[in-house]
Amino acid sequence: GGAGSSESTSSAGGTDESSSDGGEAPAAGDITVGVSMPTQTSERWIADGDAVKAGFEDEGYTVDLQFANDDIPTQSQQVDQMITSGVDLLIIAAIDGTALSGQLAAAAAADIPVISYDRLIRDTEDLDFYVTFDNFEVGVQQGTSLLVGLGVLNADGTEGTETGPFNIELFAGSLDDNNAKFFFDGAMSVIQPYIDSGVLVVPSNQTSIDQVATLRWQQEVAQKRMEDLLTASYSGDAEVDGVLSPYDGISRGIITALQNAGYGTTIADGLPIVSGQDAEIASVKLIADGVQFATIFKDTRKLADQAVATGNQILAGEEPEANNTTDYDNGVFVVPSYLLESDIVYADNIESLLVDSGYWTADEVASGQ
Ligand code: BGC
Repeated sequence: GGAGSSESTSSAGGTDESSSDGGEAPAAGDITVGVSMPTQTSERWIADGDAVKAGFEDEGYTVDLQFANDDIPTQSQQVDQMITSGVDLLIIAAIDGTALSGQLAAAAAADIPVISYDRLIRDTEDLDFYVTFDNFEVGVQQGTSLLVGLGVLNADGTEGTETGPFNIELFAGSLDDNNAKFFFDGAMSVIQPYIDSGVLVVPSNQTSIDQVATLRWQQEVAQKRMEDLLTASYSGDAEVDGVLSPYDGISRGIITALQNAGYGTTIADGLPIVSGQDAEIASVKLIADGVQFATIFKDTRKLADQAVATGNQILAGEEPEANNTTDYDNGVFVVPSYLLESDIVYADNIESLLVDSGYWTADEVASGQ
């Protein structure tokens, strides 16, 4: 069914004295936080949802967590319902960043503060805060990892020994997600100079974000586009050397298309360099196995903690702490933001970044699940 999965905890329960005297802040158990996540098809959003829920429950709040199956009307309905049921705070990772302004107007009318989670909600004044990663820098890291894989750059950022020319193709995320442009612009900020100098060549000539976007970040959409690129631009002697991919699911679609076309099963036997994002467990195993070259690790536990901290500040009537008040214009105003840092994962730092931090266990990396 299309209703989306839902999960909600009942109130922490119990009557308490503070709720009856009217003058004080409500007790934690009387506060409900609505958490709206885009989809469960990508494991990061499940982890995000669970971590945000656990974080607010640790504060004694009740949490209504919903996933929207990447379906815009489903997410709108879920948020509408949270507003109607009287939540005290909304945390939203939007599917389409421009589709929720009606919901946010209703939230504002009901005095419900809203935090945009990971993805910026656009075209509304009714937004209080944005917690996310430094998305431009994520893109820089994606582009950098591609250049490192090709040997054009060294992992420490110094010039590598390879001068090409290398054939590359570019993929971006979903255009309705504000992050997609930040990732692509960040990546192109490091890639474009090498295209200009002839070290990198894009045989398809598809270099604008509109040409290379991937609706809803779907693996199958990316696989199909890679297959089409191979047919259209690589039927002669030309071979693909590298592919900029903005997300691990997209990377796996690209890799499947390349493997099916006879490029070999690993980088060592001819598979092109492919970047990624999210450190999904299936892709971390592919990196350990020398199939995918790199991914970007964004610690969703830290983002969830930040959302909880910001939520607490807002619920306490405080000004939430921002570390960026310049970069994220949502079309109506520059949204005060808190940005977290990310890391490039290569085969040789899977252990230090992902296993030692407890993000994945060694067994999970070995099995890919
Ligand atoms: C997130 C990425 C994720 C992508 C697809 C983006 O908004 O920032 O971490 O890979 O959505 O789910």
